[in-house]
Amino acid sequence: MYELQITGVRALQILDSRGYPTVKVWLTAAEGTVSVASAPSGASTGAHEAVELRDGGQEYSGRGVQKAVTNVRGEISELLTSRSWKTLADVDQALLRLDGTPGKSRLGANAIVAVSMAATRAFATAAGLPLHVWVAQTLGRAGRLPIPHFNVLNGGQHAANPLEFQEFMIAPAGAPSFTDGLRWGSDVYHALSRRLRQQGLATGLGDEGGYAPAIARPEEALDLIVAAIEDAGYTPGRHGVAIALDPAANSFYADGTYTVAGKAHTPEQMISYYEKLITDYPIWSLEDPLAEEDTGGWPALTAALGNRVQIVGDDLYVTSADRVRDGIRDRSATAVLIKPNQAGTVSETFDTLTAASEGGFGAMVSHRSGETDDTFVADLVVGSGCGQLKSGAPARGERVAKYNRLLEITDEDPLLPYGPTGTHLNDQ
Ligand code: PGA
Ligand code: ZN
Repeated sequence: MYELQITGVRALQILDSRGYPTVKVWLTAAEGTVSVASAPSGASTGAHEAVELRDGGQEYSGRGVQKAVTNVRGEISELLTSRSWKTLADVDQALLRLDGTPGKSRLGANAIVAVSMAATRAFATAAGLPLHVWVAQTLGRAGRLPIPHFNVLNGGQHAANPLEFQEFMIAPAGAPSFTDGLRWGSDVYHALSRRLRQQGLATGLGDEGGYAPAIARPEEALDLIVAAIEDAGYTPGRHGVAIALDPAANSFYADGTYTVAGKAHTPEQMISYYEKLITDYPIWSLEDPLAEEDTGGWPALTAALGNRVQIVGDDLYVTSADRVRDGIRDRSATAVLIKPNQAGTVSETFDTLTAASEGGFGAMVSHRSGETDDTFVADLVVGSGCGQLKSGAPARGERVAKYNRLLEITDEDPLLPYGPTGTHLNDQ
């Protein structure tokens, strides 16, 4: 059996897409191959995510990661080069033991996830397999290209406009292939830009490459997007281009009240509001519609709307297998968002994907708002077979790097199927 022997570990503080520091790692194997990965970083984070290590102080507004880099060069390098590794789970468990905290805060989840992602690539390279094929084999799944969810209009923590809802995404659910879906997304994105300019609205971009016009009401954003879908010649809805929302409700919830466009809502009123939105607009997926601490609201919302749209827990589950199992038991949603840096290691991310599929939950793999040119999530989504990815707008280098990687995978493996599976999305 193959054993991975790591002979060199290099780490560097680089900048992410927002201009803040993040961790990049290179692992050299005994064969001489080098595996690279960079940590992404969120802005609207769940309370229970694995914890990034930031330097504090004056530089980079306290967001430097030199301590995390030092940990990779020091303790982590010593560990990785001290023995050989049979499996990725071996590596990840040793990293967790070395860190010793529940949230990975001592060594830093940003250090640990970059090392874990690079180690995943090292195992795939050693096996002579593309990363997505290695992931599929390790998870025991069939590869599948995802429906891309393009975040074309940004608000919340990702933009400076008055819009509380964070992400308005378009999903080319009716496209016959990933390649067509990417083109449809690009067409609608550019049609939206024309619409905004016609209406005298700004076409400046938010953190994930979507437009960030100065509007406040979600209905205004949805009207613009439906018009753009039609302008581009597509049908709004599941047979054409559907809409997915990530309101990221933590950020407009306080003391039991949700405030949207100046109006206060109780959890019950918020559920009725979503019911109206999904009736009036071709919405097929709702992520973080309620705040993570509104534990009573989630099962009520899922009971009311879960047979009409996908309900995705992001901040609610933070890519934790235990939290997903609780969510399956309590029927608090119907799907989980998958972000490797919320879990902190790739093995834990795999465990969460397995927990979701065992419990009949859907899954959507995701980038973070702070990204790099690393395309790990593109291979992860194909190997997971879950059929859904969100990686921002079909614009800006760090976002399109993932979509372009999916084009490469399509070209290399033209027989891969496309679209979600095992969720209600494919039979409605
Ligand atoms: P984040 O947001 O990467 O800024 O946390 C993404 C999301 O909420 O899905
Ligand atoms: Zn989210």
